[in-house]
Amino acid sequence: MRSKSLLPIVLAMGVLSALGCDHSKEQVQAQSQTSPAVAETPKPMLNFPPDSGPLPTFNGDRAMQYVKEIVKFGPRPLSSPNHKKVEDYLDSHLKGDDVEDDVFTAETNVGKFPVHNIVAKYPGTKDGIIVIASHYDTNYPLRKTSYVGANDGGSSSALLLELANQLRGKTREGYSIWLVWDDAEEAMKPDTEVDFMSDSLYGITHLAEKWQADGTLKKIKAFILADMIGDADLEIDRDSNSAGWLQDVVFEAATRMGYQSHFFGRTLAMEDDHLPFVKRGVPCIDLIDFTYGYNNVFWHTPQDTVDKLSPKSLEIVGSVILETIRILGKMEPLPPK
Ligand SMILES: [Zn+2]
Repeated sequence: MRSKSLLPIVLAMGVLSALGCDHSKEQVQAQSQTSPAVAETPKPMLNFPPDSGPLPTFNGDRAMQYVKEIVKFGPRPLSSPNHKKVEDYLDSHLKGDDVEDDVFTAETNVGKFPVHNIVAKYPGTKDGIIVIASHYDTNYPLRKTSYVGANDGGSSSALLLELANQLRGKTREGYSIWLVWDDAEEAMKPDTEVDFMSDSLYGITHLAEKWQADGTLKKIKAFILADMIGDADLEIDRDSNSAGWLQDVVFEAATRMGYQSHFFGRTLAMEDDHLPFVKRGVPCIDLIDFTYGYNNVFWHTPQDTVDKLSPKSLEIVGSVILETIRILGKMEPLPPK
């Protein structure tokens, strides 16, 4: 993924600090919003269902164990043996579930690559689908380094595995939940060389096109993306490309859990897996913490390792997602797309 607004700031800060100038702090503060209630566009008033019933539970320790197991395979760029091992690892956890494999060949800037999206489907009582997605590949340009993407791709893929444990084998009130492990999200070339949007998101774009063609897209009520959500210092950003009303639902869910201080302290424009669905009119939210270490220093570096992550962060995001889908299942009607 990439943030349109943060990258120039980071670059500017690099230049400023090189010049010995101390304006960098002001630059960041100018980008920050301290009030989570601030929104960019007017939103419809939402009627939340009463805050009743037991709050969801999510096993952060088990999700953390999954992160460690994914990372242990090593770097998992497209077409690598490690990538195949992680595909098999994900499949092994979904045995007996209703799984759709979306396999195709992507034509990229650096050649043709096999791509494998994995979709696990858990039925609900209501007509309609909520998609929860995470990419699982690691950055291709970093394939010859020790980069394992513990937070970037690892944490959210593990989160979805634990969500599957929570959803499996239950008759659940609300919409069907489809978990998507999308592939080939990362750019094939550094975005300093090739525009990110023309060189990434291969798997999720294919899925959006496929579901548009077969009519599935019309049934999707919401698309929730998780990315870089394992950072021990958890600060989920407000993404200005996401649907404002869906952010309000997530914030309501976070507030019910007492986790609201981890959400939406800053606004960024994220270019991430959700965009092919945003473009097709599906309400989307990108749950991403794009401050991974000071100034996001660990992002796309070999220092993106499990020691920076926390089971508590996985528990916070996992349980807030579960409460979000519970609220969405009880909201009548959902705001128009
Ligand atoms: Zn990445």
